[in-house]
Amino acid sequence: MTTYKEFHGRSISDPQGFWAEQAALIDWKQPFNKVLDYSRPPFAKWFVGGTTNLCHNAVDRHLATRRDQAALIYVSTETGEEKTYTFGQLHREVNRMAGILKGLGVGRGDRVLIYMPMVPEAAFAMLACARIGAIHSVVFGGFASVSLATRIDDATPKVIVSADAGSRAGKAVPYKHLLDEAIALSKSPPKHVVMVSRGLAPAAMVAGRDVDYAKLRAEHMNDEVPCEWLESSEPSYILYTSGTTGKPKGVQRDTGGYAVALAASMGLIFCGKPGETYFSTSDIGWVVGHSYIVYGPLLVGMATIMYEGTPIRPDGGIWWSIVEKYKVTSMFSSPTAIRVLKKQDPALLKKYDLSSLRLLFLAGEPLDEPTGRWIADGIGKPVIDNYWQTETGWPILAIPRGVEALPSKFGSPGLPCYGYSVKIFNEANGEEITKHHEKGVVAIEGPLPPGCMSTVWGDDERFVKTYWTSVPNRQVYSTFDWGIRDEDDYFFILGRTDDVINVAGHRLGTREIEESLSSHPNVAEVAVVGVADQLKGQVAVAFAILKDAGKVDTLEKRLAHEGEMMKVVDGQLGAVARPARVHFVTSLPKTRSGKLLRRSIQALCEGRDPGDLTTIEDPTALEQIQAAIRG
Ligand code: ATP
Ligand code: MG
Repeated sequence: MTTYKEFHGRSISDPQGFWAEQAALIDWKQPFNKVLDYSRPPFAKWFVGGTTNLCHNAVDRHLATRRDQAALIYVSTETGEEKTYTFGQLHREVNRMAGILKGLGVGRGDRVLIYMPMVPEAAFAMLACARIGAIHSVVFGGFASVSLATRIDDATPKVIVSADAGSRAGKAVPYKHLLDEAIALSKSPPKHVVMVSRGLAPAAMVAGRDVDYAKLRAEHMNDEVPCEWLESSEPSYILYTSGTTGKPKGVQRDTGGYAVALAASMGLIFCGKPGETYFSTSDIGWVVGHSYIVYGPLLVGMATIMYEGTPIRPDGGIWWSIVEKYKVTSMFSSPTAIRVLKKQDPALLKKYDLSSLRLLFLAGEPLDEPTGRWIADGIGKPVIDNYWQTETGWPILAIPRGVEALPSKFGSPGLPCYGYSVKIFNEANGEEITKHHEKGVVAIEGPLPPGCMSTVWGDDERFVKTYWTSVPNRQVYSTFDWGIRDEDDYFFILGRTDDVINVAGHRLGTREIEESLSSHPNVAEVAVVGVADQLKGQVAVAFAILKDAGKVDTLEKRLAHEGEMMKVVDGQLGAVARPARVHFVTSLPKTRSGKLLRRSIQALCEGRDPGDLTTIEDPTALEQIQAAIRG
């Protein structure tokens, strides 16, 4: 048996041989003639010349052996719907959706934006795009019109697939007016909108543009749409990061590399087997939803659960009851969700038969030891922390137990996954740090393995400039996270080098919230920081300089103004982005070079030392922050 160390070592010393073997996990129409082309670093092309199709691999190829086995299991505790689609039925629905899209003029390389709640039609739409070679761009349903409009303008979709409403904790969350507003704001409106009506909220149809899904589905009932065979490097989808630096980055994913990387990870990292059931509690709007609700499990012939609802309705046992009922073998969730469950009756963890479950995977943010231990002990299963990014599409750090069941260490997402040459660099001088326990920026030496982003959509230069540094003879990708490595090669992530906040599992750029608040006519300048919050992980707190401070000279006026500003954010970005507090100040702490000292503001909000203030321009600005917090 190979040790994991040897396995990883070979993936780095012989990437061609290593990945050629993994490539056998998927079907190719035309075999590739070269495993890796890295002649134009940092752009890596995997499986050059090979043609394949994600939908064929996720659906069609299983028909021969598992036509009547479960493929997509839909559970909504919001509407009470529960429905299992077999591979045969999924194939039918995807063909219908593909027929609808083709009928609306969508072809290879065209973009389709999917703005949907957690309904099966969202997965049908993603797979249908893959089938016909269209590039999907899923936008999280919690985003409101301005966020949506920016993404429409960047991806310029021919068609948008949407629904009348989502649902949260039993209440309908209407989508259609937000979509209409976004299209009105957009410079490149789509030709058509396919509307899925759930009957949850009224949705006025725009004549000539909007089409009804149910009606079209009936017309395309028996469509047989062939798979479009794409060259491995052709894009499969675009997915936007949270956009700390203003404009969100459109992560572009290839086809062949992504299929191989996901298929490999299902066995090597997630220990899932064909015919078993996978349950990821994420949302299709995030990368985990793309890789591990839709594509990963289906690629290897596993059933996947798509869940609409909260973790605690009807009670905190809902997820475990799903594990019992569908005999889930691998489950994927986030530390935030576990923190929510921690507030519920712990007896719920013991109420259901979890014997089918092997492992619980958690990712998205640092997993603190008390939370990790609580859930591991509570369900009596190993918990596997794993660290990755929208950009990479699959884990960078984990314990790949499919190779060797090495122990986990609390507080560490584990070891570099095969294919990733993970290093730590000194940010100031660009040198590699080889000493154990010395903090630096976590980086990946190029080429990035299969499945990772190929570029920023429509902006190769931004891809290079944003992520890559050239160290003599080497190309290094920055994760923008701080970390250390211990003597056993386990990594620990210490936080991010930029400023993104994580509110109850939703990643929000502080810059985006600042931009939104700034659109209030009375705001001159504003700083937003993420402040630690027991329940949500983090909340946004804003400090604003007003043009007319007279508007907040009484407590009543202050509260009213604060409420008004929160409403602006609700309307533009969605309620998830709403700051918990908006404080009013007349000066903000900045460096002499004009950079906002967000880290210092954040430290004060969390009752910590504001740190090195030698470069501060106006020290009284910090006193104001302190006074504002004290109220
Ligand atoms: P943007 O790139 O626009 O700023 P983002 O980085 O918030 O967006 P994601 O790609 O969803 O969006 O998040 C990846 C980041 O989440 C990682 O870079 C890291 O900071 C954090 N993260 C993910 N998993 C873990 C983990 N297991 N432990 C610690 N941090 C994690
Ligand atoms: Mg990021």
